[in-house]
Amino acid sequence: MLYIDGAWKDARSGATFEVTDPATGRPIGQVADAGVEDVRDAIDAADRAFPAWAALTAYQRSEKLYAAYELLQERHEDLAKLMTSEQGKPIRAARTEVTYAASFLLWFAEEAKRVYGRTIPSSRADQRFMVMHQPVGVTAAITPWNYPVSMLTRKIGPALAAGCTVVLKPAEQTPLCAVEVVKILDEVGLPPGVVNLVPSLDPVPVGAELLRHPAVRKLTFTGSTEVGKLLMAQAAPTMKRVSMELGGHAPFIVYDDADPVRAATGAAMVKVLNTGQACICPNRLFVQRGIADRFVEALVGRIAKMQAGSGFTDGVQIGPLVDAAALDKVDRQVRDAVARGATVATGGARLTDGALAEGHFYAPTVLTGVTEDMVIYREETFGPVAPVIVFDDEDEVIARANDTDYGLASYVYTNDLARAWRTVEALRFGIVGVNDINPTAAAAPFGGVKESGLGREGGEEGILEYLDTKLVGFAV
Ligand code: NAP
Repeated sequence: MLYIDGAWKDARSGATFEVTDPATGRPIGQVADAGVEDVRDAIDAADRAFPAWAALTAYQRSEKLYAAYELLQERHEDLAKLMTSEQGKPIRAARTEVTYAASFLLWFAEEAKRVYGRTIPSSRADQRFMVMHQPVGVTAAITPWNYPVSMLTRKIGPALAAGCTVVLKPAEQTPLCAVEVVKILDEVGLPPGVVNLVPSLDPVPVGAELLRHPAVRKLTFTGSTEVGKLLMAQAAPTMKRVSMELGGHAPFIVYDDADPVRAATGAAMVKVLNTGQACICPNRLFVQRGIADRFVEALVGRIAKMQAGSGFTDGVQIGPLVDAAALDKVDRQVRDAVARGATVATGGARLTDGALAEGHFYAPTVLTGVTEDMVIYREETFGPVAPVIVFDDEDEVIARANDTDYGLASYVYTNDLARAWRTVEALRFGIVGVNDINPTAAAAPFGGVKESGLGREGGEEGILEYLDTKLVGFAV
């Protein structure tokens, strides 16, 4: 069903599309397939709802977000199970994601009350300056499949807190999770039109309408850099505000003063996060020569033991990749690396034994001897493959780490404080984890530089993306 103007409806065309479980390929549900007219209805509803929603007090908007936070927590297990069926991640990871998703509703329920302005002294005795923030307006949110609940709350939370209204187009692989999130928002009594949901099998006309329509004043997008660039160009003619959370190619630097086993444990864990399908997964593991053998041995030891399978099976750490195209991409990158001289230390092939043949499974893999001419050195993998590169000194590794068009997450393992500080300052990335593989939280600003995007989600920065700044000059 679509959710437009506070009501669940079919698409005007009556079209629907099927959602499948990536672990089995079996259908698990149907959703309405929105077309351009439905999107127009949703934008009109959001536009009508905007003035009254923006005029509520921050306390009133905060109450709704807090109620949604509580209801999402109540539905925690159901949502996690749905996510495992629809997206494939192991159930434990799905539970973690629901908790993470809820934390954005809570955080922005609080931040709603902290949209402060300021006054500025003037050089004129008869003048005062005041700076105030006001909601941008109708917001189009386009989200990916890899984090099908938290990527929604990370946008809807701050948008609603700021006083914006929302038209959400979720990824075609994971609309069922989006439906459940919107049900929660409906049940807590959001006024009609404040949030609207338009899943669609063909994102091109839907996206084009969201970006063409002059009433939409803001696009918040999470997805690939390729699509992000396309959408940014489409936003230009009407000069919409844009936030872009795009792809990454994270370096993971391990200096020779670090504990190689601890670093390898961290690398293995963050590499297989969501089966490697996270924008913050390391895509180049740089290890200093002196500890390279011990690091690789520990990494291979960890990764080779990881069990693949249905996310509902106990002990499974590797779920299916989202679809056949994702599997082909990973396979192609590994074959290219091997053809150019890399060594497969473990894995390196599709998994097709027994029930695994029904899904899109790839063996967790470690490649050594990775060089700059290999596709995997530059292209985002989005799969459980860890490419290892040996380096000799600090300047070299920083230059190589920065030698990418991306700039989202990066990691450094060292016990030398000065070296850590120098590296943090030199890395051209939006996020650096120092001996830390999870530098994310609702309270912290998440986002990238260069082709990894624009803007920040979470933290005190997160709400500013949905606010315009107004300057008032006051003659007294
Ligand atoms: P994607 O192919 O760019 O799709 C993302 C969303 O954009 C989906 O809803 C998709 O719809 C829609 N879309 C695709 N083409 C469109 C068009 N022409 N007009 C309007 N909408 C369009 O990315 P993905 O494969 O879902 O997600 C993986 C990417 O997201 C990776 O690159 C990853 O690094 C990035 N990511 C970044 C972050 C971050 O915070 N920086 C977080 C998570 C993921 P359909 O589903 O119908 O194709």
